[in-house]
Amino acid sequence: MSDVLSSPIQFIKGVGPKLAKVLSRKGIETIEDALYFIPRAYEDRRHITPIKNLRPNQTATLFGKIQSSREIRAGRRRRFEAILNDGTGSIALTWFHAFPGIQEEFQVGTELIVYGDVKYFHQMPQIAHPEYEKVEKGEAGKPKASINFGRVVPIYSETEGLHQKTLRKMMGEVLKTSLSELTEPLPESLRTRLGLPTLRKSFVSIHFPDQCPEEGTPSEAVQRVIFEEFFVLQLGLGLRKQKQKKETAPVITDKDGIQKKFYATLPFSLTNDQENTLKEILSDLKSGKAMTRLVQGDVGSGKTVVALLAAAVAKGSGYQTALMAPTEILAQQHLKTAERFLKPLGIECLLVSHANSSKKEVREKIKSGKAHVVIGTHAIFQEGIEFQKLGLAIVDEQHRFGVEQRGELIRKAGKKETPHLLMMTATPIPRTLAFTLYGDLDLSLIREKPPGRTPVKTRILWDRERPKLYQKIRERVLKGEQVYVIYPLIEASEKLELKSATDMHKKLQSEVFPEFSLAMLHGRMKPEEKDKILTEFKEKKWQVLISTTVIEVGIDVPNATLMVIEHPERLGLSQLHQLRGRVGRGSLTSECILVADKFVTQRLKVMERTEDGFEIAEEDLKIRGPGEFLGTRQSGLPGFRVGHILRDASLLAKAREEAEKILETDPQLSSPENASLRKMVESRWKAKIERLRGA
Ligand code: ADP
Ligand code: MG
Repeated sequence: MSDVLSSPIQFIKGVGPKLAKVLSRKGIETIEDALYFIPRAYEDRRHITPIKNLRPNQTATLFGKIQSSREIRAGRRRRFEAILNDGTGSIALTWFHAFPGIQEEFQVGTELIVYGDVKYFHQMPQIAHPEYEKVEKGEAGKPKASINFGRVVPIYSETEGLHQKTLRKMMGEVLKTSLSELTEPLPESLRTRLGLPTLRKSFVSIHFPDQCPEEGTPSEAVQRVIFEEFFVLQLGLGLRKQKQKKETAPVITDKDGIQKKFYATLPFSLTNDQENTLKEILSDLKSGKAMTRLVQGDVGSGKTVVALLAAAVAKGSGYQTALMAPTEILAQQHLKTAERFLKPLGIECLLVSHANSSKKEVREKIKSGKAHVVIGTHAIFQEGIEFQKLGLAIVDEQHRFGVEQRGELIRKAGKKETPHLLMMTATPIPRTLAFTLYGDLDLSLIREKPPGRTPVKTRILWDRERPKLYQKIRERVLKGEQVYVIYPLIEASEKLELKSATDMHKKLQSEVFPEFSLAMLHGRMKPEEKDKILTEFKEKKWQVLISTTVIEVGIDVPNATLMVIEHPERLGLSQLHQLRGRVGRGSLTSECILVADKFVTQRLKVMERTEDGFEIAEEDLKIRGPGEFLGTRQSGLPGFRVGHILRDASLLAKAREEAEKILETDPQLSSPENASLRKMVESRWKAKIERLRGA
């Protein structure tokens, strides 16, 4: 990738540290990221409508002069109104909250381009809070086209502190700076055969198209970008597969009956599905070829034990295991479980955290092989951490990691062998999709739940039934049990929402449950703070934990028996199901209450009906549509910036087919025609690994 494309977005004129911070929340760190930030819609502002031709409820672009302006007081409120005249008629522009300097902004005689929804009051057209711009005169007294008017204008998905005008201006600069730096990665022959526009042309028409693209379906330019994204992934997978054919993997067999010893320490016996999954894993481990296996199993189905058994067997053959979790809290929890089951077998477990990962002593233990099972987050990927003999890598909640990291693991493995890779997930991904995303991949399924589980009863309570809800919370706490109250935030208004979550905490504490201790947990807290609160909750120091969705995966507090979810309509069913899995972890009867207001739909009823995560995921897919279910943000599936693997399934299939074709004739992508393609594949995969390390 060219230096310009990979430069931080601050490199762009007009982007300061503050804006850069807001942009990074949208995943825009580099100039290239900005190019791939696709508008969610467009508005056609090419035609100026004479005011006399306006109709009610029309969205229009107008051009005229300010004729008069005034502040209007109504009680304590102050409104500002400016009258715009274009020679054919007048329209009122109103602001319900006057901003400082508004008088000067709309002085009489000022020429303006205005855009907005036209409403009529007493026969007078009016636009409230219009988008506007002062005009630069072009030819024949006509306004000059600007970035916001006189063209088809992009509308980006918004976030707090980020305005369309700011984004548009930035995108204009981004294109100016980067277009000449773009090299076309797709070979000419492929492009012409598939009728794909060039990358440059695509980005121009994505951000500032000549024509207004149809709503709903991705435009030709967007499709091209999606195709390329998929194509590059498929090529990367293909290249890796070829490399893998030549690599050897550790031969791991069950030496000295470790499996039996493990069983002896287990307080339960494995379910049939766990047994079968284990069998499949053990047969992969001794095959001499690197395993790539994804274990899918609902929350609480007992994936961890199976993984730890595999780690124990690896140790028996003299190999180390790396176990990666998406968060530090989960890593700590895994450490506890691992120690409980593995220590009695003489297996040393070690936690790598951001706090200790650079300590010499920790690195030494890993390098010397003294630590047999190394548990951590992506801290494990940090530079300077080298294994003596890594034989098995286990990735919990695989969707937060991608396939690209495997190369990184090989580098760390210390031997010229490819470690076996075991991924575990509670997100059910259709089989065909998994193949396309991960290349060659084997699947194991754990559908059965361990016996003796107390089912979690789920019910919807209406918002007006709050007294009943509080009564239920009180009953649980008085019995010595604990309660979660989840308050999901909406990305667009996180700050406000966080405030209302915090307010709710205060209110519940001071007005409803003054006699109980309530803790609060949210994503803006430092990892140490979060860990502290969760640990304290586990130790029963807190009776009620109010939290955003940060506790979603894996937290295990058996004494917590009631889960209350506020605003369940903000979450997907699968997410609700994951959250619900936090209770019902012990022998006590547990309950999940969804506090619904008028938005409640059939959708939530599914939660009352079934506890089968796979069924719920399917419902979710049906109701919300693939984009939302498997959108990169929601599920964290391998980061596609633009493509949606389900919505764009046919492009994905095409990309796979074309990648196979090209690799057949040029297996290393070494021909001159494919040179930039090869570079692109390498840099994309490298970027993903770097992101992971830096994350
Ligand atoms: P998940 O699949 O969500 O990662 P875990 O591995 O955390 O599930 O298992 C959840 C709980 O069930 C743990 O406390 C674990 O010890 C227990 N468990 C796992 N397998 C069995 C089993 N076969 N019988 C009884 N309990 C089990
Ligand atoms: Mg788990």
